[in-house]
Amino acid sequence: MTIAAGSNRSSRIAGFHKLSPRERLDLVAGFAGLDDAQVTHLANMGNLDPVLADKLIENVIGTMNIPVGVATNMKIDGEDVLIPMATEESSVVAAVCNAAKQNYETGFFTSVSGNLMIAQVQAVDVADPAGARIRILEKRDDIKAACDACDPVLVSLGGGFRDVEVRLLDTPSGTMVVTHLIVDTRDAMGANAVNTMAEKLAPAIAAWSGGRVYLRILSNLADRRLARARAVWKASDIGGEAVRDGMISAYEFAAADPYRAATHNKGIMNGISAVVLATGNDTRAVEAGAHAFAARSGRYTSLTTYEVDKDGNLSASIELPLAVGLIGGATKVHPTARACLAILGVTTAERLARIIAAVGLAQNFSALKALATTGIQKGHMALHAQNIAMMAGAVGEEIDRVARLLVERASVRMDVAQKALEEVRGG
Ligand code: NAD
Repeated sequence: MTIAAGSNRSSRIAGFHKLSPRERLDLVAGFAGLDDAQVTHLANMGNLDPVLADKLIENVIGTMNIPVGVATNMKIDGEDVLIPMATEESSVVAAVCNAAKQNYETGFFTSVSGNLMIAQVQAVDVADPAGARIRILEKRDDIKAACDACDPVLVSLGGGFRDVEVRLLDTPSGTMVVTHLIVDTRDAMGANAVNTMAEKLAPAIAAWSGGRVYLRILSNLADRRLARARAVWKASDIGGEAVRDGMISAYEFAAADPYRAATHNKGIMNGISAVVLATGNDTRAVEAGAHAFAARSGRYTSLTTYEVDKDGNLSASIELPLAVGLIGGATKVHPTARACLAILGVTTAERLARIIAAVGLAQNFSALKALATTGIQKGHMALHAQNIAMMAGAVGEEIDRVARLLVERASVRMDVAQKALEEVRGG
């Protein structure tokens, strides 16, 4: 049965949030005129319990399944690791496997700068900003006590308040006094943890500064929580010095040009966001932090660096903020995230961040190598051909057969796929 679209076209649906996912879905189906197959599809929540889905976000009607692939060949700090990656984009998992295969003997080496998050408290209308800054800094002990009292669990685990800094920002409406609370959030990403502290501190900061407090929230530019990875690929293992030099040139292009750097870093985030998502972490928080960090000099640039080492090999490194956790948000409650964390075998947020940095570097290596040699489309299109084949209507084993024809004909296009499908079906 198809419910005619337009039978109820008002988006004002009183009490929508109080309904069950299925009741909401029926209402949405009526609004949009979904057919039975679409309703049945959306009602199938796959391996996420509808009760849990309904608690994770608001107004749930279904779930969006994204494939989880596993990247092989990764050796990180001497340990072999299988990397679960959740992504809808073809070639992303293969790129990590390929990069890691070319330096498996040595692998990747990683480190972090710490687990520190920053919460900001904004004070405005401050008569004497410089004096206010000093008055707030004098209160360090009181600030520490107030922050730590917000989260005794965190403190019992060795985390909690670490420091306070006060910045003066010149703005069109005057100098703002911005207090930074620096907090060790251990194995949590820490957004809720530090936001609670910032809100708790706000009245005191208003009093000490003599101004009015507005915003009280974490900064996603988590530059006290940097993850780093480095790796060396032997020139002889990657196709020789010409390939190496082409990759260096590709890196230098990204380092010099924001137009190129945006795409370069997008490729890095293909790998990073896939692991962040697979582990139930906040992809938007990590993306925001990465891009803000890439622009920290005032000019947006590459998150990775490539050099020729003393032996003539390709030495690569990455550094970026990685605020990820094993606790909090969906990490602890989403069963797929728990299973992915189990595959990774991580027991600390720090180890997770280190692994993710290595994945970002591997991803970038493969992209630069493809770009500097055959071009990105050759490898990409082989997998993309399958998507095009499906879009043309191929099902089952037709998908591979049509995709093969598209690649053979070096023309991965819908019209070519439709013709190829007719041929396949015609025998
Ligand atoms: P949370 O508040 O759910 O859990 C963290 C708490 O767990 C800690 O405060 C601590 O009390 C407790 N805990 C138990 N064991 C711990 C351990 N081993 N290490 C650390 N803490 C432990 O989660 P959170 O990490 O504070 O917040 C993450 C969520 O906040 C994510 O879902 C994110 O999407 C969301 N969020 C993000 C932003 C942003 O990025 N701008 C803003 C608001 C909310």
